[in-house]
Amino acid sequence: MTRGLLIVISGASGTGKGTVCKKLLNDLPEVSYSVSATTRTPRPGEVDGKEYYFLKVDEFKAWIAEEKFLEYAEVYGNFYGTPLNKIEERLNRGKDILLEIDVQGALNVKKKCPEGIYIFLLPPSLEELKNRIEGRGTESPESLARRLKNAVAEIKIGLQYDYVVVNDTIENAAARIKSILSAERCKVSRNLDKFNLGTGN
Ligand code: 5GP
Repeated sequence: MTRGLLIVISGASGTGKGTVCKKLLNDLPEVSYSVSATTRTPRPGEVDGKEYYFLKVDEFKAWIAEEKFLEYAEVYGNFYGTPLNKIEERLNRGKDILLEIDVQGALNVKKKCPEGIYIFLLPPSLEELKNRIEGRGTESPESLARRLKNAVAEIKIGLQYDYVVVNDTIENAAARIKSILSAERCKVSRNLDKFNLGTGN
C-alpha cells in the first residue's frame, strides 16, 4: 500500500494559511487535518477539538513529558504542538495528513520526516500582510507589531522549505498546492510497489 502524504504548510501570520488549508480540506476529502494542541485562549467561534485542543499550560507540559507530540514550539508566548497519536497509523493506511504549523515546528518535523512535503505560503506583499492582520481585528496593537516583526523573520526561513506558494487569491494558492500534491503522488520513490508488474523479474 502506498504511504499517505505528510503535508506541512507554514506561512507568516496573516498570510491566509488557515483559509487556504480550509479550502484544501474541503476540496480534497482524502486529506485529513491534524488538530494541534495549544495553550492560547480560544478566539470567538473556535471549538475545542476542532480548530485546536485547548490545554492549560500544566496539561501541555504533561503531554510533553509523556512524549505525546511529534513537535511543539512556543509561538507568541503560547505553546503549540502536533499530537503524535494517529499520525503514523494514518500514513501507513495510505491516508494523507495536513499539518498547519509554524516554521520552528515545521523544521523539526522535516528533520524527523524528510519524506514530507514542506510548503511555504507567502503573502503578495508585506503591505498586504499588514492589511490582512489589521483587518482580522483580533490582535491588540502590541500583538500586531510583534506578529509583523516576526513575519519578516519567518519569511526568510521559507528558504528551507521544498515549495513556495504566493497566496494572491485563495483559489490560485489552493490550485497550486493541489498541483504540487498531484506531482508528489507520482514520484517514483512513492510508487515502488507499482513496479512489480508480475513478470517475475
Ligand atoms: P494562531 O494562534 O494564529 O492560531 O497560530 C499561531 C501560529 O501557531 C501559526 O503560525 C500556526 O501555524 C502555529 N501553529 C498552530 N498549530 C501548531 C502546532 O501544532 N505546532 C507548531 N509548531 N505551530 C503551530
